[in-house]
Amino acid sequence: MSKKRQHVHQYIKIYPHAQGKTVINKINGVWACALPDCTHYMPHNVEGQVEGKMSRCNRCMEYFILDQYNMQNDRPMCDTCANPSGIVIPESYDPEKMEVRTYLANKSGRELHEVTDAEIEHNIQLRRIAMNKM
Ligand SMILES: [Zn+2]
Ligand SMILES: [Zn+2]
Repeated sequence: MSKKRQHVHQYIKIYPHAQGKTVINKINGVWACALPDCTHYMPHNVEGQVEGKMSRCNRCMEYFILDQYNMQNDRPMCDTCANPSGIVIPESYDPEKMEVRTYLANKSGRELHEVTDAEIEHNIQLRRIAMNKM
């Protein structure tokens, strides 16, 4: 039985030609594993194969898949670390509606969710009419 340990590489981009901390030529960077007991790296001729591979996040060590976006970072991170707020703006998000909702809630001393969509629509209509008269 082979005792060779398998692990998911934690990819980082290293610059073998760097002198100390000064990177001479960014183009010469290669993708390599950051784990201390691993010497794995991707030679330039197979560099394209890194995309789509599983890696470990360089911040939280979670598994994630390398793609063209997270690979723009020399130390790729998972989606959670790259977007720590976790805020996903829904497509329906409309700043005008939100503003009107806040305005109506404040005016009548209600909570935001107590303002109905119909009220908001009505108020926006009134605003449009007022704007046209200007
Ligand atoms: Zn490795
Ligand atoms: Zn992470």
